[in-house]
Amino acid sequence: MRSRLRFAIILPWFVALFLATVFSIAQERPIVLKASTVLDGKGKVHHSTIIVVEGGRIARVGGTAPQGAVTYDLSRLTVLPGWIDAHVHPDWHFDATGKLAGENEPKEKTALAAAANSWKMLAGGFTTVQSLGSPLDNDLRDAIERRGLPGPRILTSLDPIFGRGDSTGTPDELRALVQKHVQDGADVIKIFASGSIREGGKPTLSQDQLNAICDEAKKVGLRTVVHAYGPSVRMASIAGCTEVEHGLYATDDDLHFLAEHGTYFDPQAGLVIQNYLDNKSHYLGIGNYTETAFDTMTKVLPAFQELFRHAIAMRGLKVIFGTDAVAGAHGHNAEEFLYRVQTCGQDPMAALVSANSLAAEALGLQDRAGSIAPGLDADIIALDGDPLKDITAVRRVVFVMKGGKVFVNLPVGTGKP
Ligand SMILES: [Zn+2]
Repeated sequence: MRSRLRFAIILPWFVALFLATVFSIAQERPIVLKASTVLDGKGKVHHSTIIVVEGGRIARVGGTAPQGAVTYDLSRLTVLPGWIDAHVHPDWHFDATGKLAGENEPKEKTALAAAANSWKMLAGGFTTVQSLGSPLDNDLRDAIERRGLPGPRILTSLDPIFGRGDSTGTPDELRALVQKHVQDGADVIKIFASGSIREGGKPTLSQDQLNAICDEAKKVGLRTVVHAYGPSVRMASIAGCTEVEHGLYATDDDLHFLAEHGTYFDPQAGLVIQNYLDNKSHYLGIGNYTETAFDTMTKVLPAFQELFRHAIAMRGLKVIFGTDAVAGAHGHNAEEFLYRVQTCGQDPMAALVSANSLAAEALGLQDRAGSIAPGLDADIIALDGDPLKDITAVRRVVFVMKGGKVFVNLPVGTGKP
């Protein structure tokens, strides 16, 4: 009898507590961003508007906010979706001696460097990156997704599949290798179909081998990204692979072939090579970073830029944004916009869209990222300046929100130069 009485007294408290919790979740205050200029990530500009964020997603765009409802006033800035870099290497870094860290480095040091690079990229406006790739990415992706480590959303290939001619394996063995990547948790398959540009970039996979890898990946719903130069560019497209990286020595005919077959193309217009040249002393003497290699890189830089000009001139070719950020380049990913616009003459809006909706589409994320539209994740950044008039504004990221959480909110005028 006494226990029933106690239950009768306690029960209403539990009910009240439960209702209060449910009510407070339902009533969680939306975040309201006020903006005077919003680039929507697809090529449109909205003026004098608001973006309402609820539960980490964009709930509404448009209209005016009631008095006192504005959480962040971004009206002196240019607001746009967080950028997507389709090609990075978060764990590449210089070690305590200033040299490119090697595979023998203790894994905890590599992991911490990758965490630091992830934060630098996020603070630089990149809310999504595709890492191509490293086995350590599994834990990095998990730490960011589930443990609160500040960094961009990471899609990773884990270990790449390296072409080594006949010794790479039979098509059946390569199919099994793709399955292994699926089991290990890869988001995408990265394939080296050509050698390093520092060694001439010759094809390292046959058409049959490429066909097997990209076909097997397609069967399990994974995208394929192919490091390719010269003839390998078209071979990747023939094989039905999703995306071609670099592409040096591709002809206009090859680029036309990619456009016709809907293969995404990610050429680099300057950052990665210039970063190597600027950091020569940190790389020289390690692996294939020889004096000859640096001569080669100096020589191919203008060729990469000429290829980029041909790529953006090719009708229908989907040119996406990927920097191939290696040691020294993280946090400077946006510099690639300057090479694309200032050096190669790309239209600034096209350059920005290539890192927003177009990159999202290439990564299969169009329903989550790359645009400012209701239902998408609230990945939103703001620049101190107008990148359509002055592309150097991409260097001044003063506000970064990812999934509705604000990671950077600097007073205007204090953004990095
Ligand atoms: Zn790379």
